[in-house]
Order: sequence, then structure tokens, then C-alpha cells
Amino acid sequence: MSAEPDGPQDRLRRLTTIWSRAVFPVTSTSLTRPEFEAELLPLAERLSRALHARDFDAQEGEAVGAALVAAHCTAPEALSRSLDCVDAYLVLYCGEDGPLEDLRARSARLQHAMAAGFARALRERTLAEQEAISQAALRAQGVVAQALHASEARFRAVFEGAAIGIGIADLDGNILQVNGALLRMFGGSEQSVRGRRVQEWTHAEDAPQVWRLYEELVRGEREHYHVEKAFSRPDGTALWTNLTVSLLRDADDRPQYQLALMEDTTERRLLNLRLRYEATHDALTGLPNRTLFFERLEKALNAGPGQRFGLCYLDLDGFKTINDSLGHAAGDRLLVEVADRLQSCATAPGEMVARLGGDEFVALTTGPGTEREVDELAHRIMNVLVAPIRIDGRELTVRGSIGVVEGPAGERSAAEVLRSADITMYRAKSAGGNRYELADPEADARAITRHGLTTALPAALDRGEFFIEYQPLVHLGDGSVRGAEALVRWLHPQHGILGPDRFIPLAEHTGLIVPLGRWVMEQSVRQARTWRERHGDGCPLRINVNLSPCQLTHPGLVQDTVDILERAGVQPDALCLEVTESALIGADDDLLKPLRRLAEMGVDIALDDFGTGYSNLANLRRLPVSVLKLDRSFTRGMQQFPADPVDLKIVEGIVSLAHSLDLAVTVEGVETGAQAEQLRILGCDTAQGWYYARPGPPERLHELALADAAG
Ligand code: C2E
Ligand code: CA
Ligand code: CA
Repeated sequence: MSAEPDGPQDRLRRLTTIWSRAVFPVTSTSLTRPEFEAELLPLAERLSRALHARDFDAQEGEAVGAALVAAHCTAPEALSRSLDCVDAYLVLYCGEDGPLEDLRARSARLQHAMAAGFARALRERTLAEQEAISQAALRAQGVVAQALHASEARFRAVFEGAAIGIGIADLDGNILQVNGALLRMFGGSEQSVRGRRVQEWTHAEDAPQVWRLYEELVRGEREHYHVEKAFSRPDGTALWTNLTVSLLRDADDRPQYQLALMEDTTERRLLNLRLRYEATHDALTGLPNRTLFFERLEKALNAGPGQRFGLCYLDLDGFKTINDSLGHAAGDRLLVEVADRLQSCATAPGEMVARLGGDEFVALTTGPGTEREVDELAHRIMNVLVAPIRIDGRELTVRGSIGVVEGPAGERSAAEVLRSADITMYRAKSAGGNRYELADPEADARAITRHGLTTALPAALDRGEFFIEYQPLVHLGDGSVRGAEALVRWLHPQHGILGPDRFIPLAEHTGLIVPLGRWVMEQSVRQARTWRERHGDGCPLRINVNLSPCQLTHPGLVQDTVDILERAGVQPDALCLEVTESALIGADDDLLKPLRRLAEMGVDIALDDFGTGYSNLANLRRLPVSVLKLDRSFTRGMQQFPADPVDLKIVEGIVSLAHSLDLAVTVEGVETGAQAEQLRILGCDTAQGWYYARPGPPERLHELALADAAG
């Protein structure tokens, strides 16, 4: 007969058995193991239900954590073993249906909630116990006082039977009586307690008020006090207690004895320390985590005058590649090794290393001398990363980029400091990585505006914040206006008018350049049509529109252009697309195909900024180009008189080459009449520049064109 497959209830029981086996040895419960297991079963059921509930509720986990405390599972081990067990078996035994990823995520959240519920219940219990002890102290004070006067036997019973430590001393501090519980707390030996004086029990961690309260009590100025106090046990370990001391008066109300009640809180304190440790340290590397780092940084930033701070923000170069290619386990080992090395860099007092997450680390140095120290710290970090790290028999080279921020305390918030460090680190990364850079307020400000502009770009297009200025293209032979280049601007609500150099690179980076470029083309082609209507067909004005490299590779380029021209009723030969030389260097036929299609339709293609890209002149023959736009740097050489003879020779050479290839030559940046004259003599066809007009509104161009038609 084959065995019946386990039902859900069987699996739940098995989970509970494993759980109770793990936790039972570290509880202080008075139950037997089977009884204890019976107590865990409803908790396991609760977790299982929460795992499958339609609406996930992490509070179920908190309730289970709290229930553990109620079941006397208060030792630190009890929590960590419970979490281990839930982590390993909850999904395994109770997750038969449902997608594994979701179940795992839920299980993780339940574990977090359990830890939180556990910590809270423990804290609440501590508070409740302290309250109970104060109450007991008050009651005991009455009982003991009575007993002293009345029945010695009753007093003994209270004294010896108490679960908390009780001691009586006279007002000079001579210890007269202690009970068994108190002796056990101190390790059991009578001579270490009896015959000693209270005042000997000082401890390095005594809070300042501990002994002031004591003095007030023995002088009869206060009836009782309650403190948290440590004692040294004979074996050298610390005994932490909740201590309540009360004054006992005689029948005539004169102070006579002091009565101490103490509860051993050592274990609980250790657990609290451990919970605090876990909340402030990174589980993988053991380094302080973000929380602790921010605490320290805040402290450093709030230190008094004369104090400074220095911070190195490290991000590993190419860590993602290592993680993706060698797997997460290898990635983790690498991070652990890096953490160890970093830790060895920051060992002086006032220094710390923390892991902020992923492959990001920080090293902090504080004190008056950080201006020099932070440099050395960054050096040390770069140095410890040099030696390759061996993982799975492979030698991995690890490099990092560091952003360094240094400054006086009291000027910036922690968030500002970290943002500056982050920006600076990215600067180090984009300069090639494997280096450190120092923060620079101007670079920060630029980066922040850049970031702001990038995020505002898409909405700006929708809100119509862009506009176009037109700069005339003038025929050098007769000085007539032949057309204009469209130059886009952004009227930013805060920053005012921004030139294309401020936002075109951002738009290229984010891909917004495609819709923005389309918008520019649409507007300018429509403008060309308006000019034509007003100006007549005598000498039609043409429009030049700039194309970014990303637009060139965009599959919709040809179709979009055709649509725009058709919708506006404008002939293709009224449009010239300007493409920079650098975008076409080494271009293959695929990239050139759309341009070739456009050229075949009659659209002019101009090679913009010619002379800056070091392209092979012989290459010009391959390109579907009909105009060369000579870069401004050539015209600059002709500003003075006589012009730079080398520049003259170069321009002359380019012009004759261009003409032999049937290309027209336009020159940019003509600012003076002398330049214009010189360029005309050299044989250039068209010119553009401030000498003729700055970029401006479309009506201005219309006036200019009309003026030379009339003249
Ligand atoms: P570009 O195509 O080389 O445009 C010529 C730039 O030279 C313009 O700067 C123009 O204002 C400036 N300029 C004109 N005459 C003179 C002069 O006599 N002296 C001097 N010093 N400068 C002169 P702008 O408007 O700041 O444009 C900068 C660049 O932004 C343009 O360089 C172009 O590459 C890009 N750009 C402008 N509009 C667009 C657009 O709609 N799409 C794309 N993709 N890029 C654009
Ligand atoms: Ca241009
Ligand atoms: Ca140009």
C-alpha cells in the first residue's frame, strides 16, 4: 500500500516540530517540549494563512513575534532561530500553490514583521516589569517595615521567597542582609556581598545621578529612587539591574535602613544591544550600515567650532558586470573582501567605514585636521584596491571611483553632504573611473541644475516652452538673404531663456531629442511656407534645420520629414538638414541610407561644423551631402588683419575641393565686414553670423529679406 501524500495540516505540523526543536533549548519556558510545540502550532498556522491571504497583512508577522515573547522565547537566539526556520521552511512546507517569487517575498516581509513585533513586545514587557517592580518596591517597603516592627518570621518569608534580589543596609552603607536571589545574581558567593559597603559598588558605567540619588536617600531627603545600574561580579563580568532603593523609617519616622530591590536585566540588555547591532550593521559585510553612518555623520556635522569632517564616497567600477557574469555568490564574496580592506584603511579614532548598499561604501574622518586626512584616506582606499582579489581561483581586479567631500562642521546637512559626494563620485566615474575627485560647489550646482533640467524637459515640450529663432543665411556674392537656420531655445519658467548647448545634450541623452527635433522641423517648415506666401516666389527663402545623431538613427526620420513637408505644402528643396561632421565619421551605408533617400527627394544635406571632426576629405565623395558649413574656428582666424595665412590657405583649399565635388560652402560666425570680404574673395558661397544678424524672431528675417529685395 502506498503512503498517503501529506496533507497541508501534516506539513504544518512538521514545520512546527522543526521550529520547536530549534527554539525550545533556548527558551525559559516551564513547558515540556510537546507542550511548547502545541503552543507554536497556532503561530505556524497564522504564518501560513498570512502567506496565502488574498490581501497580505504583515501585522500577522508582528503578532507572531509578540507571541514568541509571551511564550518566554525572549533570548536573542530564540528570535534568530525562529527567523531561520521560517526562512527555510515556511514556503517549502506551506507554499504548495502560488508563484514562488511572491511567496518568498511575503515570507521575507513576515520575517521582518516578526522581528519588529518581537522587539516591541520585549520592550513593552520590560517597561511593564519595571512598573511592576516599582509597585512591588512600594509594597515591600510597607511589608518589610511592618515586619521589622512586628513579626520577624513573616519578614523572613517575604525576604527569602522573593524572586527578585533584596538587600538591606544601614544608612552608612553597611550591608546587613541579602536574600538568595541577590546572591545568585552576584555569582553565589556570600563573602563577595555580605560585609561590604554599598559605596564600594561603583561601576564605570554608573550614570551621574546614581550616587546623587543615593546620598539624598540616606540623608532622608527622598523616600526612594529607581535607576538602571551595573555591578561588577567577582568573575569580572557585568551584572545589569533595574534597581529600586527605598528608605525605611522606624516607628518614630526616623530614617533607619535602606532597602534595595534589584532585577537582573543583563540578558535583556544583551538582546537589546544585539538588536541595536543588527539594526545598524550590514548583514553581509558586518560593516556599519546606512543608519549608523548617518548617525555618525550627523554627529560630526553638529560638532562644535573648529571641528571638520571628510568623507570618501566609493562606488566600485564595473561591479555589475562581475555580479552578472560570476554570479551573486561571487559578487558577495568580493564585497566582503572589499569591506575588509576598506576597514583596514580607517582605523584611527574618529574614522569609520560603512556600506551604504550594493557596491557603495563610505569612509568618514572627523576632527580638526580632516583637510589633510581625507586626502590620505582616499589614497589609502585607492591603494588597498590595487591588489587583485582571488575568487573561485580567478584573480579579479577591482577598481573604484571616489567622490571626496571635506568641510567645517555646522554648515551643511547630512543629506547635502551625501548628495555632493554622490555627484562628485559620478564625476570621477565619467572621467573614466579608478580615481578620486574633490567636490566643487560649482560643479555640484551645475549637476543639480542639469538634473533639474533633464527631469523638466518632457513637460516643457508639452507646455510649449520651446521657441525657435532664425538666423539669416546670406549670399556672399550679392548680399541677399537666401534662407535661415532654425535655432531652438527654451524659455524656462525659472532659469529664463536657455540656449541649446544647455539642453540639447540632455535631450539627446534622454531620447527627448526625437520629438523635440520633429517639433523644430515642423515649426520651421511651416515658417518657410509663411515666408514664401509673403515674399512671393521670386527668391524663395530656404530653411536649415539641425539634426542630432540620435535623430539620424531613428527609423521614422524619412517618413516624418515627408509628412511634415506634405502637410505644410512645402517643396523638399526648401529644406536643408544640417548634420555634424562627427556624426558621419565612419558612418556605414545603413546609417547613410535615410540621408540618401532624403537627398534623392531633393532635401539638401549640409555637413555642419566642418573642419572640427578630422574627417577624411576623400570620404566626402561617399556622403549624400550638398553643402559644407565651415566651422567658426576658421572665420575666427580672419578676424584680425592681415588674416592668418595658414587659415587662408586651408579655407582656400577646402573651398576648391568642395567646389570640385559640387558642394556649396557656407561659413559660420562671420562677425565683421573684413571677414565677409575675405571669405567672399576665397570663394565661399554663403555666410551666417552676427555681422548680418543675430538669431531672432521670424518677422525680422522677413524684413531683412524684403529690405535686400528692395535694395
Ligand atoms: P550650430 O549649428 O553650429 O549653430 C550655430 C551657432 O553659432 C548658434 O549657436 C549661433 O547662435 C551661433 N552663432 C551664429 N553667428 C555667430 C557669430 O557671428 N559669432 C558667434 N560667436 N556665434 C555665432 P546656438 O544657437 O547656441 O546653437 C548652438 C548649437 O546647438 C548649434 O550649433 C546646433 O548644433 C545646436 N542646435 C541648435 N538648435 C538645434 C535644434 O533644433 N536641433 C538640434 N539637434 N541641435 C540644435
Ligand atoms: Ca547648424
Ligand atoms: Ca555649425
